[in-house]
This record gives sequence, C-alpha cells and structure tokens, in this order.
Amino acid sequence: MTSYHVAVDSTDSATLGMCTTYLGAVLLERLSELPLELSSPPELVRLNPNVPWKTRGNGAFCLRYEGEKDLLDEILFIAENVIWNLSVFEDPQTNPGLVILEGEVPISFREIYHRALHEILYLDAVKEVGDYAGALMKGWKNERGLIGALSAVGADLAEHTYEAILYRPAAVKDRMRQVDAGTLREASKRYPSTFFNIDPEGNPVCIPHSPCPVILGIRGVDPSDTLEASRMVKAEGIERWVLWKTNQHTDAHIELVRGLSSLRPFSSISAEVSVSSPSAYIEGGHLFFDVSDPEGNTATCAAYEPTKGFRKSLSQLVQGDRLRVWGSIRSEDVPLPTINLEKVDVLELAVIGVPVNPRCPECGGPTESMGRGQGLRCKKCGFRGAGLEPVEKIMEREVRTGLIEPPSDAWRHLFRPSCLPTSKERGYGGPWWGTGAP
Ligand code: ATP
Repeated sequence: MTSYHVAVDSTDSATLGMCTTYLGAVLLERLSELPLELSSPPELVRLNPNVPWKTRGNGAFCLRYEGEKDLLDEILFIAENVIWNLSVFEDPQTNPGLVILEGEVPISFREIYHRALHEILYLDAVKEVGDYAGALMKGWKNERGLIGALSAVGADLAEHTYEAILYRPAAVKDRMRQVDAGTLREASKRYPSTFFNIDPEGNPVCIPHSPCPVILGIRGVDPSDTLEASRMVKAEGIERWVLWKTNQHTDAHIELVRGLSSLRPFSSISAEVSVSSPSAYIEGGHLFFDVSDPEGNTATCAAYEPTKGFRKSLSQLVQGDRLRVWGSIRSEDVPLPTINLEKVDVLELAVIGVPVNPRCPECGGPTESMGRGQGLRCKKCGFRGAGLEPVEKIMEREVRTGLIEPPSDAWRHLFRPSCLPTSKERGYGGPWWGTGAP
C-alpha cells in the first residue's frame, strides 16, 4: 500500500465559468473507479489573496488517497482527462497545473505552502522542489497552476473549517440559482456551528452570481453539521456535492510582524501601531489614515468604500489611538506602504482634552472671553472674572475599544471573523462527496 496526493489549480475563468473545486468534485468521482480510498477529507486550499493573477479566491484543491502501488499512471491519465475536458483553456488567466505525489509529503512542500500564503513564488523554484521530491507535474499553457497545486499538496490544515459545496453541471451558466432562501435561513438557525450563510438582514451571502457550477456553499466548523445544513437547503438542479476541509476563515495568510519596517509587497500582516494622522476620505469614498510603530516607521492604512460601516467607524479614530491592524500590502506603494485593512482592534483610545469656558461662579451662566489674558465674563449676569481661565474637558469618543470588522460581503476567504463559532468539532464518519443532492 502507498499514499497518493493529487492537486490541481488554475482551471477556471471569472467570465467564462467553471470552478477548480468543481473539477475536484468530478475528479473525486472518476478516481473512485481505482482501488483507492480517501485517506483524509478533500482539501480546498486558499493561498495568498494578494496574488495579482488570481481569478477569484486563489483556491486550489488536494485529494489524498491510500491504495495499491503502481497506480500513478492511471491517476495521471484520469486527472489529465478531467482537466482537458473541464478547464477553460481559452481564458488567458487559466493555466492549469496538476501535481501528483506518491508517499509522504516532504517538509519542502510544507514550506512552499506557507510561503505561498505570504509571498509571490516563482514557478521555476516551485518546480525544482517538485522535481527533487519526484513529484509528477503536468502544467498547461504558462503552467502557473503548478504553483498552487504543489502548495496544496504541502498544505497543513491544522487550523481549518469546512465548506459543503453543492454543484450544478458545468454547462449551466445562469447567473441566477434557484435556491429557497427560507430553508437556508432555517438551516443557519438549526446549525449554529455554520456561518456566513446569511447576512444580519437574513439575505443569502453563500450563493454566487457568476456563471460557475457552484450553487451554494455552506461553511461551518463541524463537518457533520455543515453537511446536514446543506441538506436542509432546497435548491434546484444539484448534480453533485463535496464536503471540503479548508483553511478558509483561519487567518492563515496573516503574518504577525513586530513593526512596520518589515512590510513586504503582496504579504498580509498584523501589527500593533498608533494612529499618526487624522483620517481623510478621498474620491470614491475610500478612507485613509497614517499609522506609526514605536520605532517611528510609518504606513498608510486604507479602508475602501465597499466596507461601508467599517470605514465609518475607523473615521472616528484620532492621532494617538493604539490599534492592532490586520491587512494586506498589495504592491510597491509610494511614498508609504499601504495596509489594506481587513480588521482593526482598538486597544487604547487617546485621551483628548478640549478647552471649555467654565460656568459663571455667581449665577452659573455661560461665560465668554474678554480678550487674550483678560479672563472671562458671564454672558448672563455680566460678572467679570479676571482670573477665570478655560478648563480642559475630556472629549467623549464615539469609537470604543474592541474589534471593528467589515460586513460579511467584504470578507475574503481566509478572513477570520470574530463570530466564527467556537463549538468543538465532533467525529464524522460519513461520505465526503457524492453525486445528486447530499
Ligand atoms: P478559483 O478560486 O476560482 O479557483 P483562483 O482565484 O484560484 O480561482 P487561479 O486561476 O487558480 O485563480 O489563479 C491563481 C494562480 O496563482 C494560479 O496559477 C496559482 O498557481 C498561482 N498562485 C497561487 N499562489 C501563488 C503564489 N503565492 N505565488 C505565485 N503564484 C501563485
């Protein structure tokens, strides 16, 4: 007996349809013809969300099997066949990659996975790692999909969630899906270990509007609840389903950094900083403010218009507020690196004193200045207090300490929300995929 790891990336198109995970769903069915058993749940692996050439969520998948020796050629034949049939080759952004590894996953693959979450990797360097480990690698067009595929083989999902995805046939390209939102709301209520199904107003947020084969995806922290919730949802035209184990919503892309001197383009970081400039809106409703670390390094923080209330709360911050920020640095920004904010924890609010005139000591009326250094006069009774001075009053702040997060429609796949259910995962012995409805 031996183990096999089969991973694929970059087969779909944002405009022409398909989804790499759908290809995974079909591959699960086709590979079940071989004397193989899944050794772990099918894995949906999200990689660096700042990669400029991603289609949507920079996702790849890996299927891990135990089975008879000498099946490499048959696995390769089936996987190539499925990729040929389903990939959207006409899209210039689609550059499929297939990696098949037999045996233990080497540490070098684990390292590639971790780097693929935080950096931009070079294809040649990744292929070298695959070659050294004796992995079978097949790339199409510019072969860039090999980067995501090899990273998916190296994925370690110690921290994970689940997503039950229901699929329709790839040929169906409607942007609308027939899903009964009422049953979705009921499922969310019945299974509180699922999340990101509906927004606070009860509108579905787990149904895409693209021409891809995904009907909907139910996310959760427990595999059994996640699948049960997906079973409760009434949807038309389900062809197949997969219960994916995934690094989604784990903040796997975030690196904790000490200071702002180490911000690298295309990375995602979390750092403790202080607000160092007033915030300002620019055209389009995007909000910007500067921050600094204790060493005096500075960066600009940005919250974009679609984050709505998140941006509004952040506009209340003032110089001296201490924050922990999470966000990504997309490219070489001039003159300061820009952190595109994903969430902010307000650690400590600056105390702002504003000068106010005291009430009149005689009648309690309001006072006004009699000129520079000449004291205050009561506007009501005319009392003149030559020695009266404005006193400092601590300004009441609208913003409070604690976490500020964007609304769910602005979350990225890897974003860990504070509402992530904390319930423990129970054992699951059921199937991970199937044809028809789940
Ligand atoms: P979907 O989520 O819908 O499957 P996608 O967003 O994953 O689509 P892809 O078409 O897979 O989009 O494009 C991402 C491309 O970026 C792939 O070719 C993948 O190999 C590559 N890639 C992923 N991570 C990195 C990285 N860290 N450095 C360089 N390239 C990467």
